[in-house]
Amino acid sequence: MIEKPTIPLAEWPGLSNVKILRGDLIHPIVSGNKLYKLLPIIDKARSQNKSTLISVGGRYSNHLHALAWAGREFNFNTVGVVRGFSAQELTPTLMDCITWGMSIHFVDFQMYEQRYSPEFWQPWLDKYDRSFPIYEGGWSEEAIAGSKSWWRSIPSTTDVVICAIGSGSTFSGLLMSAPYNVEVIGVPVFKDPDQYTDLRSKITGVTGLNKSLPLWEGFAGRGFGKLSAEQKNFKVWFEGRTGIPLDPVYTAKAFYALHTQLALNPSLQNKNIVIMHSGGLQGNRT
Ligand SMILES: *Cc1c(COP(=O)(O)O)cnc(C)c1O
Repeated sequence: MIEKPTIPLAEWPGLSNVKILRGDLIHPIVSGNKLYKLLPIIDKARSQNKSTLISVGGRYSNHLHALAWAGREFNFNTVGVVRGFSAQELTPTLMDCITWGMSIHFVDFQMYEQRYSPEFWQPWLDKYDRSFPIYEGGWSEEAIAGSKSWWRSIPSTTDVVICAIGSGSTFSGLLMSAPYNVEVIGVPVFKDPDQYTDLRSKITGVTGLNKSLPLWEGFAGRGFGKLSAEQKNFKVWFEGRTGIPLDPVYTAKAFYALHTQLALNPSLQNKNIVIMHSGGLQGNRT
């Protein structure tokens, strides 16, 4: 097994009450939160005597990247069903996946839309013997439980923890296991036409929490992986000041959200805040 390290903290530029949890430093190859989510899923697959892990994602997917690496590390075959076309140039992400032994299959946009239905999965499960499906981003009870590991590295004096939301596993895990006096706030990074109703009901469904979810909305930028001009400027400023790289999908948006809220909301000045750097830097390569 992989040792779960204590993760270092860095200081936010000019603010001693705001700390950055350097999850990007967890591991040199599979940085960030994906490993915490995958390890318990892999344990479950092993306990069911499965030999192939199948999952889905985009061409820059941090999740597929970590899965391919973990499959090689823990002796599983891996299959990635990728939104895209085989005629497109391979991304560095997919090249790594292939190097680590993942079989890649491309599906088009419409097919990918079906990824939550059993009909989408059945042909892949039939094709690969003793295979185990993993939802997009690792969304599962196991991944949610695995995300509790972050608390080991969060100082006990913390009042507020902030993280980006993709599948919502990390946020759900943190919410469910938060000490009673710690507020966990999530920053959705994708635009949602329904005001995040689906996201909220998905998360309240698994966590069983029926209070309103603390989300900072309005920071999705121009769309998945696309930053607004303000977010771009912020990213350049932050990286220059701290030397800590951000990714355009998750961390640049979550960190910009905090930067904005710190200016808008004076009550945050008196709180001990930890923002999670959830990694994702492999996706920066082009
Ligand atoms: C996947 C990912 C997230 C989102 O985590 P979820 O548990 O899917 O919500 C955040 N940051 C990075 C860098 C990621 O790769």
